[in-house]
Amino acid sequence: MERKITCIICPRGCPMTAVIEGDSVKVSGHSCPKGEEYAINECTNPVRTVTATVRVDNRRDVMVSVKTENPVPKGSMADVMAQLRKITVQAPIHIGDVVLEDVFGTKIVATKEIL
Ligand code: SF4
Repeated sequence: MERKITCIICPRGCPMTAVIEGDSVKVSGHSCPKGEEYAINECTNPVRTVTATVRVDNRRDVMVSVKTENPVPKGSMADVMAQLRKITVQAPIHIGDVVLEDVFGTKIVATKEIL
């Protein structure tokens, strides 16, 4: 099977082709090893870092930006967002504070300071 993949690791956006045969993935079109690694991961275990916002309870009309500390399986992104919609946090919040533990094996951390 052949897959066309655009590398999203850097702004160059190399168009790549991955040929999948059993457990083997052969990549062409990449300009650096990071692109090859990205294409192989996309074919075998695609993951994404999820970014979102969470409501701050004790600050009127304020949201704090958050992200997954590590990438999560691409197929779980909607579930991660659903969990984030259910929670609120209390200020003060500092960059790196954990707002949710163990979501698909990683933490959700704040990426903005709310004092
Ligand atoms: S293959 Fe390398 S140069 Fe090309 S977009 Fe990906 S990271 Fe950038």
